[in-house]
Amino acid sequence: MVSRRLAPVQEGEVMETPQSRLVAVSNRLPIKLVGHGVDVKVEPGSGGLVTAMAPVLRNRGGLWIGWSGSTDDSTISGLMAEASRQSGYSLHLVSLTREEVRDYYYGFSNEIVWPLFHDLQTRCNFRPQYWYQYLNVNKKFADVIIQNTRLSDFVWVHDYHLMHVAHFLKDYGLSNRLGFFLHIPFPPMDIFMKLPWREKIIKALLDYDLVGFQTIRDRRHFTMCVQRFVPEARLHGRGGVITIRLPDREVRVGVFPISIDFHNFAEDASSKEVADCAWFLHEKFPDMQIVLGIDRLDYTKGIPERFEAFKTTLLRYPELREKITLVQVVVPSREEVEEYRALKGEIERLVGEINGLLSTSGWIPIHYLYKHLSRRDLLAYYRLAEIALVTPLKDGMNLVAKEYCTCNLEENGVLILSEFAGAASQLHKGAILVNPYDVEGISDAIYTAFHMEKGERARRMRWLREHIRRRDIFWWVNTYLKAALSKDLADFPELEDVSSGA
Ligand code: UDP
Repeated sequence: MVSRRLAPVQEGEVMETPQSRLVAVSNRLPIKLVGHGVDVKVEPGSGGLVTAMAPVLRNRGGLWIGWSGSTDDSTISGLMAEASRQSGYSLHLVSLTREEVRDYYYGFSNEIVWPLFHDLQTRCNFRPQYWYQYLNVNKKFADVIIQNTRLSDFVWVHDYHLMHVAHFLKDYGLSNRLGFFLHIPFPPMDIFMKLPWREKIIKALLDYDLVGFQTIRDRRHFTMCVQRFVPEARLHGRGGVITIRLPDREVRVGVFPISIDFHNFAEDASSKEVADCAWFLHEKFPDMQIVLGIDRLDYTKGIPERFEAFKTTLLRYPELREKITLVQVVVPSREEVEEYRALKGEIERLVGEINGLLSTSGWIPIHYLYKHLSRRDLLAYYRLAEIALVTPLKDGMNLVAKEYCTCNLEENGVLILSEFAGAASQLHKGAILVNPYDVEGISDAIYTAFHMEKGERARRMRWLREHIRRRDIFWWVNTYLKAALSKDLADFPELEDVSSGA
């Protein structure tokens, strides 16, 4: 399959001085470990973020700092030079011990920040030892940054695992410009207040020069917390990027909805290989509309609620039986965590219950796949589904929604989208928005989508695809870097606020 390597971020376009480099920092390095034991190899990772950042990193001799995903880097560290050569920019490891991974990654990041920031505070495990290890590992990241950066470099830190890195860099006296982007939502103040270390996190985020969020709603939640904990802070400006004035400095806070490599998805989806596969898969469901769900195994994705809604649809609208089928792909994730194994059990129980209740001799309501899809199969499912059912309880963005529309080349699909997915702030005009907790509301949306006329489907999908095309992953990187490195706030157009004001 062709992989387009666009380079819309041109040399000199956003960087201020020829010497300045981009230093990307994330929990995981963009690499894949292939093979086992002595045969292990490190290959460059793929995915939208890496594709979009790579041209900037390569053009500027940039670097990427992160963890390998392993607690034994003895083999991997010897392979980093080759991995850097293949990637075209240098990769630097932050090595973590088993205890650090347990308490910083599984503990603080995934048992506290992940559920809390997705509004699920009852799932949080507020153990003090997690907090201390989070600080310790954030400091370790800061150490590796200090060892590898120059004064003129721009350091761009990604995501909730690393909110405290700027705090330690400032402690060390580093005066580089520092950016942060939060890929997950930022919760409403009432929920954020449950965090025992709430004030420290807010102040640590204010140690960055630019803090980016996915939606206006996330940014509003954050600025409300800033005003609560830093009463001397003053907000200035409107639109995509605003300024927080503190007594001694200014912090910019922006909204940058992340996206995908539109052209790459659309091009690959148009290949004969994908078209043939889509045709072959749809043949198994003759004269039926396929409703598609594709999610990582995670309690934020609302999969049991979606099954309840689908069951409700078939009970409230019996005429849809045998005319519609839900294909639900669940991608394995965090299987070593008991909570995720329990969710998998719950999902499988519900599939059995609903199929047992409603199947007929030639028809099964829910086709359930628990696996990683190949890229060909993923794009084929996107192409063949008449309806996409994307109903997370809360999601930073949700790229599946954007990928589905991008691959819907015939423009005959309908996107049903949770109003609590970040993507809803951009896609609300073309999608049917639903409350993921409202099973009857979702069943009405499925009914409406099923009966939607061809013309209406095309009109909505054209709008969705055009929006995603214009605001793709390269637009995202460019916009963020411009906000980080330029001085002119007039560059940033006002964004439309469609959030409910929560
Ligand atoms: N995806 C994948 N393997 C699969 C199915 C999907 O890697 O078998 C990808 C999908 O293409 C998308 C990502 O997983 O890019 C899911 O991103 P999303 O923002 O929807 O949710 P997240 O998993 O990041 O919470």
